[in-house]
Amino acid sequence: MRRSSLLWTLLPPLLVVLVLTLVLVTGFTGRSMRDFVLDQVQAELEHTALLLEPHLTHLVEAGDEAAVQRACQKVEEDTGMRLTVIMPGGRVIGDSEQNPQFMDNHANRPEIMKAMTGETGMSLRYSATQKHQRMYVAIPAGVTSDHARTFVIRASVSTHSVSLLVRRIYGEIALVGLALLIIAGGISLLVARNISHKIGYLRDGAEAFAEGHFDRELAVADPMELSDLARSMNSMARQLDERMRKTESQRQELAAVLASMIEGVIAVDADENIIRLNKTAARMLGYSEKDAIGRSIQEVGRNSELTALAQLTLSDYKSREKDVHLGGARETLLEVQASGLVGLDGERIGALLVFNDVTRIRRLQTMRRDFVANVSHELKTPITSIKGFVETLIESPPDNREELDRFLGIINRQSDRLGQIIGDLLALSRLEVTDQTRDIEFFDLPLRPILERVVRDFSNRQPEHSGRIQLECSPDLRATVNAPLLEQAVGNLVDNALKYGREGSTVYLSCQANNGTVNLQVRDEGLGIASHHLPRLFERFYRVDKARSRQMGGTGLGLAIVKHIAQAHGGLASVTSEPGVGSTFVITLPREETA
Ligand code: ADP
Repeated sequence: MRRSSLLWTLLPPLLVVLVLTLVLVTGFTGRSMRDFVLDQVQAELEHTALLLEPHLTHLVEAGDEAAVQRACQKVEEDTGMRLTVIMPGGRVIGDSEQNPQFMDNHANRPEIMKAMTGETGMSLRYSATQKHQRMYVAIPAGVTSDHARTFVIRASVSTHSVSLLVRRIYGEIALVGLALLIIAGGISLLVARNISHKIGYLRDGAEAFAEGHFDRELAVADPMELSDLARSMNSMARQLDERMRKTESQRQELAAVLASMIEGVIAVDADENIIRLNKTAARMLGYSEKDAIGRSIQEVGRNSELTALAQLTLSDYKSREKDVHLGGARETLLEVQASGLVGLDGERIGALLVFNDVTRIRRLQTMRRDFVANVSHELKTPITSIKGFVETLIESPPDNREELDRFLGIINRQSDRLGQIIGDLLALSRLEVTDQTRDIEFFDLPLRPILERVVRDFSNRQPEHSGRIQLECSPDLRATVNAPLLEQAVGNLVDNALKYGREGSTVYLSCQANNGTVNLQVRDEGLGIASHHLPRLFERFYRVDKARSRQMGGTGLGLAIVKHIAQAHGGLASVTSEPGVGSTFVITLPREETA
């Protein structure tokens, strides 16, 4: 559709009205003027005829037609009027312009016919001989006593000058009209400009509102309609502003809720494209929040199980739960709850997927299961052995003393082993409990006396190894520790170093300050450990060589206890080893106060 400006909307009807008015005014005025002038001319013609009537009556009654002719010519000379004298019956006896002898009978001329009846006749008609319009006025003359007319005097003039006058009047009115048109156009232009300017101001205001700048206050003084419009727009802007603020705060609340959720949340639309996801979900899937929006779940999830779950939910809108394995270095296991996403009006929008990272929980569950199985297995071996020997003793007691002593010796060793396993398990579980309840007490103590106690303890318990342990630790080195626990941990490490070290080799026990930490180190010159065992070495019941460990009276829990004690101190336990050369175990403790 063609668009027209305010000026071009206002101006044409105005011009049409003006032109129409002008035409009508000109028409009526011209006509009145013409009628007025013609009336004047008619009156003048009649007046002239009346003035001449006595003289002409005299001449006609005297029968002097030549004198009549001369009188007619004289009138034309004096006034410019044509004068014609016509006898009843229509014969012309005098005419100021032509010779009456050659003139037609005038009885049928309308003005003459009227005058013959005794009234003044008038006729306006086009003269073929003179090529323009003329006015003829005829009066009855020479009235006799019986009211019979003896003749008719007709005066006539060309109305050409009247036409010229009327035309001039038309011209002048047209000029004035043109001036009026120009003035009206100018005024319309100014008015339209003024209104356009105000409308433009309101349009700018509306655009500013659309861009969210609601602080603008629109004001238009007049016309009233625009002023009302400005007020309505202001009130609309205020309402919009309020509504948008409310929506924005709701949006932020929702975003904050989603962002602080531990669970990952993804909403997809019916086309499987992501419409929303929170930080957790983005992190889990290894995608940035911004990049993920608008992409398909296939692209972002890169997991067929996840895609299938979303598609299934979109097809039936039923809620379901599924474990999904995500690939990658960490082998993440997600528990995904999927449900249909339904709008307030019941409209199906898409699907909602809520992720829970259950990798750790499942690993712990597996570990717990394995632990229970391991504990049962570890306990079962000595118990089976004890039970077997006790049954043998009951059913067929040995005859000789040595055999009996051997049996009892085995039962005793297995009971010790049982006691050791239970003792280590209890130590571990105590550590776990106290670590969780934060019941362990720590003191800032010098480390050397603690290590000395460990060495002394070994010398007392295993005098055969007393010379093997070499201690190197500055008496000034202090750390915040629980002395009995640390003693237990170092004791376990030294015990292992003696057990798995080469026969008679030295075990080096030392402590050093390192920036921000204190390291307690136990180094042996023994078998060493193959590197693939190292990551799992601190797990419960993990042994490199099961038979050797058992034979050495190991429970497989020693290093697990070391790890827990180090962690309880806010530190960690680590190992480096080279098969055939030896191993170095380090307990790293923080030097600051531990909580
Ligand atoms: P165990 O009671 O069997 O010694 P630990 O938890 O103390 O249990 O040790 C776990 C395993 O680590 C041991 O079975 C052993 O194979 C290996 N190990 C521990 N310390 C050393 C060491 N100093 N040298 C070689 N192997 C070791």
